Amino acid sequence: MSTTSASTKAGEPVVSDTLRAMRDAARAGGTVPAEQVGEWFQTIRDQLYAEQRPVRLEACATGSPHWIQVDERGWHRARKERQKLRALYVHPLPEERRKGTLDHTWSADRTHCTRCNSPHDWAEPFCDPPKEPVRIPLKRQPYNPLWVVPALDRLERAMRREGKQEREYWNREIAQMRRSIEEHTKETQP
Ligand SMILES: [Zn+2]
Repeated sequence: MSTTSASTKAGEPVVSDTLRAMRDAARAGGTVPAEQVGEWFQTIRDQLYAEQRPVRLEACATGSPHWIQVDERGWHRARKERQKLRALYVHPLPEERRKGTLDHTWSADRTHCTRCNSPHDWAEPFCDPPKEPVRIPLKRQPYNPLWVVPALDRLERAMRREGKQEREYWNREIAQMRRSIEEHTKETQP
């Protein structure tokens, strides 16, 4: 049995320490004392259900290799469109966690605290409502003209079904666009 305990390290253990310890214990085989499991649970609960709020949300459109930062509305839209989603959580450092002194205010059905939202069964001894997370502001995404090339390819194929005049006009336009994309990417890529 592995005795690699996250708590033997300096400072408060974090989720990754605990997961590593759990993985090591599973690899070593044998049984793990209930006390150890309780310790793992405690760490994961404290770290995951404390002041965790996403500070950055990103979506990746189907078929696109690019993760784009979105706000909450964009996130819900992307969810509906079944895009890939990911969120960045920055959990507070141990010293940033405030020690509360207030009692919890239980909901009428006693399931959770109405101030800090702690579940009744898992609540910390004192009420400690989370601070608003500091959001990472949306930044302009870098633009790469090469992203439009697949659309040009598709347009070119679609143009084969058009009349001669229309086809020639658009083929000239597409060729012109391809040249400027080529020049631009040559200039910007050393
Ligand atoms: Zn509370």
